[in-house]
Amino acid sequence: MPNFAIGVDLGGTSLRVAVVNESGELLKKITTPVKPLRTSERIIATMCQDIGELTRKFDGTGELLGIGIAIPGIIDMSAGILRRSPNLPGWQNVPVREEVERRLGATVVLDNDANAAVLGEYWIGSGREVESMFMYTLGTGVGGGVILNGSIWHGMTGMAGEPGHMTVSPDGPPCPCGNNGCVEQFAGATAILRKAHECTSGKGSRELMAEIRQNETFTVEDLFSLAAQGNEAAIKIFEGAGRALGTSVAAMINLLDLPLYVIGGGVAGGWSIFSPFILEEVERRSFVYRSQSPDSRAVITHALLGGDGGLFGAARMAMLASQGTNPAMRDRSVGSAAP
Ligand SMILES: [Zn+2]
Repeated sequence: MPNFAIGVDLGGTSLRVAVVNESGELLKKITTPVKPLRTSERIIATMCQDIGELTRKFDGTGELLGIGIAIPGIIDMSAGILRRSPNLPGWQNVPVREEVERRLGATVVLDNDANAAVLGEYWIGSGREVESMFMYTLGTGVGGGVILNGSIWHGMTGMAGEPGHMTVSPDGPPCPCGNNGCVEQFAGATAILRKAHECTSGKGSRELMAEIRQNETFTVEDLFSLAAQGNEAAIKIFEGAGRALGTSVAAMINLLDLPLYVIGGGVAGGWSIFSPFILEEVERRSFVYRSQSPDSRAVITHALLGGDGGLFGAARMAMLASQGTNPAMRDRSVGSAAP
């Protein structure tokens, strides 16, 4: 029997804990809504309970290699502390790694949820054939991550891989990060829905406004359906998202010349609608891309693992850590170099 690891993906709406074996099979998953748990203490307690339950269940089928936890927000990688998170209100300076290790007596690796999603995709998704790749995760906002020669690139302070805040329009809409015209202000779900609500003129806007009025819970998926039916106002919004992403991908190709760029996350479900605009911008803006021969060009595609990508990646983090190829810089002192 292959050995296994536990992957945990904690988001703003749900806590998911899964058993994943070394062959990349997800054997069992427990999903719990986060909102009713309210506090970080109760969420961590539930997380440990679920991990304990799954570990006991699979005890004897193989060795537990470790626990990988993916969390949204700013993480102190060396200390295993979640500094803060826009998706988890009230979580400030929570020593997640230490807490879980103390309760369970097992090795824990902690990383950002987007980094985990990229690692999952690299391991058993669209990145299986490459050594290096870049991925955008389109959700409420836009996250991402980069893998260079098999390892997550964390950067100097652990914050590398934030393509959502790359400037694509210097005087564009303000972003909560303090900048203007970030990719996120065009391709994140919040921005896409804001544009839908603001769309009061132009072809197709009348139908779009009527749809929004009728549907109180109008989502990006509803906007996809409208675009798929040919609504021009909806298509134009996705064109804006595609062009912003394409501008960013072109810059990444010029900078890193990687073989693979992947678009993942919930909003990537509209790939068929916005991908032509991504490719058009890349072709126009990246001379590195244009100079590559058509049969060996960088590939720009969508993620394959869907919502479970982060779970696979979290489990993989633990497997790599158990082999000594630790992707989470555990033993590195970050931001506290000796004088
Ligand atoms: Zn920003």
